[in-house]
Amino acid sequence: MSDHATEHPDIAVVGAGIIGVACALRLARQGLRVVVIDRQEPGHGASFGNAGHLATEQVFPIADLSILRRLPAMLMDPMGPLRLDWKYLPRALPWFTRLLLNLRPAPFRRTVAGIRALNESSLGAWQRLLQDISRPDLLREDGSLLMFERADSRPVIEALQARMQQQQVPVDYWQANVIRETAPQLSEGIQGGLFFPGTGHFLDPYQVVCELVHAARTSGVQFLKQQVLGGQLHEHGVALITDQQPLTARRVLIACGAHSAKLTAALTGENVPLDTERGYHLMLPHEHDRLPFAVTSLERKFIMTPMADGLRLAGTVEFAGLNRPPTMERAWQLHRLSKGLFSRDLNAEDATPWMGFRPSLPDSLPIIDRVCDGKVLLAFGHQHLGLTQAAITAELIGQLAVPEALGKSHELPVTEPYRLDRF
Ligand SMILES: Cc1cc2nc3c(=O)[nH]c(=O)nc-3n(C[C@H](O)[C@H](O)[C@H](O)COP(=O)(O)OP(=O)(O)OC[C@H]3O[C@@H](n4cnc5c(N)ncnc54)[C@H](O)[C@@H]3O)c2cc1C
Repeated sequence: MSDHATEHPDIAVVGAGIIGVACALRLARQGLRVVVIDRQEPGHGASFGNAGHLATEQVFPIADLSILRRLPAMLMDPMGPLRLDWKYLPRALPWFTRLLLNLRPAPFRRTVAGIRALNESSLGAWQRLLQDISRPDLLREDGSLLMFERADSRPVIEALQARMQQQQVPVDYWQANVIRETAPQLSEGIQGGLFFPGTGHFLDPYQVVCELVHAARTSGVQFLKQQVLGGQLHEHGVALITDQQPLTARRVLIACGAHSAKLTAALTGENVPLDTERGYHLMLPHEHDRLPFAVTSLERKFIMTPMADGLRLAGTVEFAGLNRPPTMERAWQLHRLSKGLFSRDLNAEDATPWMGFRPSLPDSLPIIDRVCDGKVLLAFGHQHLGLTQAAITAELIGQLAVPEALGKSHELPVTEPYRLDRF
């Protein structure tokens, strides 16, 4: 790639996570000269270590009103599935307040409709994207299971099934014997579960980023390792200040995940209520062939995904901001939680722990938008669903950036629920 794109890119994408990279490839495919800027190598943020679950069934926000009841436990129990660092409480309170307000019936319905609209298109968008880079093998479309162990969880799971069916989520109730036949290594104590046939899992989320980067480079996208410190709009575009040379582009796409608020404020003047739900994984490299698909435990609240390099245990939500060091004990806790779920305990030899920052807005919807006369595009805040929604986000950003690419009228796509000005 010549320096030509760097000198005069049509668009500078800030952030090389799954969202930024998928968008960059899409924009390049539409004929734009694209530069991607990240302070790290691509794919080393949240996109590195997520659970790899194409979670199209998750149409409800993670939080519900029980969060109020659980707040004391969140403050007291450092190993609980949901944790709030008490030192972070003053910073988190305004965000929590907005989260609770969004659980009222009307905003809740808007959130569910907004998540659904993206999730229903997610699998198709991923199929198109993986076909485009000739790597459909990266995704297994084998479904996923939400299982339960306690008899008193049955009504909970049945109520969830009914709510999901109301939202047109494909879901089957599996009795214990069906689970035993399909996933024979799971413990006899599993009582049943919900199987979601319209879901799947990626064999290695980091490799997915790498393959997209490879395809993007081949299409002329240039990748720069620089930190973006700020920026400003000018008549013909956007000037970005970096820790190295400044960069100007006709447009910018902000895709910095949980770190997107500062640049958004600098360029648009809007302060978005973006926070992070920190999550953990423990990778077990000696565990192969334990599960045929991703399995989540309802009671223990974590997911286990079979991947190319072993079994990944992932989950937990921790509110502690972007700057506090990880509580890696929470990753090891995932192994302790797995005890009793299999007929033989999982082997944690050579296991590696990891923490990542989910980018979360209090209404559980991302921002996918085009503002400032089209000079600033936004794609961040995908919380627990960034991998799931990356390909459809890229298609929407492609349409927002180049409405002509729609091939018909210059009508913009339906991104109303994801607009910046909803805050
Ligand atoms: C434990 C865990 C499990 C998860 N499981 C799933 C799952 O199963 N399915 C699912 O769909 N989602 C899952 N997620 C969520 C998903 O991982 C995220 O939503 C997604 O990775 C966000 O992607 P992103 O590209 O927006 O952000 P990131 O991947 O975080 O990328 C942002 C990039 O921006 C760069 N950046 C930030 N600031 C700057 C700056 N100033 N200058 C230059 N570069 C900058 C960072 O270096 C980073 O590379 C999970 C998350 C976690 C933590």
